[in-house]
Amino acid sequence: MEIFFAFNQNLQIFFVGIFGLIFGSFISLVSYRLVSKESIFLARSKCTHCNAKLKIRSLIPLFSWILQRGKCLNCSAKISVRYPLIELFCALGFILTFIKFDCKIDIKFLLYLAIFVTLFIMVVVDLEHYFIPDILQFALVFFVTLLTIHNGGLNSVYDGLRPALAFLAFGFAIWLFFYYSAGIDGIGIDDFKFFLIAGFMLSLNNFILFMFLSGAIGALFGGIWQKLKKDETFPFAPAICLSAYICLLVGKPVIY
Ligand SMILES: [Zn+2]
Repeated sequence: MEIFFAFNQNLQIFFVGIFGLIFGSFISLVSYRLVSKESIFLARSKCTHCNAKLKIRSLIPLFSWILQRGKCLNCSAKISVRYPLIELFCALGFILTFIKFDCKIDIKFLLYLAIFVTLFIMVVVDLEHYFIPDILQFALVFFVTLLTIHNGGLNSVYDGLRPALAFLAFGFAIWLFFYYSAGIDGIGIDDFKFFLIAGFMLSLNNFILFMFLSGAIGALFGGIWQKLKKDETFPFAPAICLSAYICLLVGKPVIY
């Protein structure tokens, strides 16, 4: 019986992973179309090189890319490695979240996934276009509000204001640090908006962990980015979004 249960659980993790791959391809699509202003749901996916509409067999997350060896079936143009990478990381995020919830599916788990997907789209858009679209910030506020109400009732939404302001102040401190130590505008207006939401999402209980993680990941990532891209500015969303989600997964309980 125990063996059956363990097998069953592995199977569940496998399916959550598949689900993650599918959402990974949704993340690719949304991050691309949010910026290109194409309809997110109506337009058929097509090759960005030859414009051929993609057939069903080219739309299977991860596997299509592997089977086609990263090339378009119509024109043989290279298909960016961003697609399989995003799908893989999304599957990984889904699986880790599932494990955090002891492999149980409930409303809180689904809200975590919604927050994860929103954060992931933010990261991809910021990496490729150096900004975080407001609509994603609104989506994040929406999901975080639902999570807060689910956790502590309607009143806790008001209590979230104080940590939100504290996180904003922290963002301002990092901006000052980058500005006076390296002379760069390390943090943009979009990042400040994100700090407000992060405070609301994580509470002061996770302030130090968030501060440490985003500082460390930001410095590491920024250093690598500047070496590879030879670019003064670097996208900050990867550091803060990843830190926020790590805090949500392994940090202290959110208490206002
Ligand atoms: Zn093509």
